[in-house]
Amino acid sequence: MSENPALDMLTEEIMHFVEERDWLQYHTPRNLAAALSVEAGELLELFTWENPSFQDIERNPEMRARMEEEMADVMIYLLEMFCLLNSDPVEAVRRKMEVNARKYPVELARGRADKYGLAKERNVGGGGG
Ligand SMILES: [Mg+2]
Repeated sequence: MSENPALDMLTEEIMHFVEERDWLQYHTPRNLAAALSVEAGELLELFTWENPSFQDIERNPEMRARMEEEMADVMIYLLEMFCLLNSDPVEAVRRKMEVNARKYPVELARGRADKYGLAKERNVGGGGG
């Protein structure tokens, strides 16, 4: 459970959907991580050989709807995984944002896209996002 009622309700709906279908037996950590990765791949697939801006996508209702659908698939799996781990997604994201802020201080990272190079310079390791 998180401190966010809307997120909690959404998670309850997702878990109800899964339990109603007796799918929990298949939802191991590895299987859910694989499914999450597949859905992230489906999101990426929308951009095969294309690199539209967010503004371009907003002007294209069909593309926007397809993108929302794949982002929702990713979020559904993430929320289920947080729930099954008895972990608070809001707290986990906050903790990771604090790590990211220490790893990439504004004065060094601002305007730089080469986060791996930056991490290497600071000797904090670039992997793990
Ligand atoms: Mg999908």
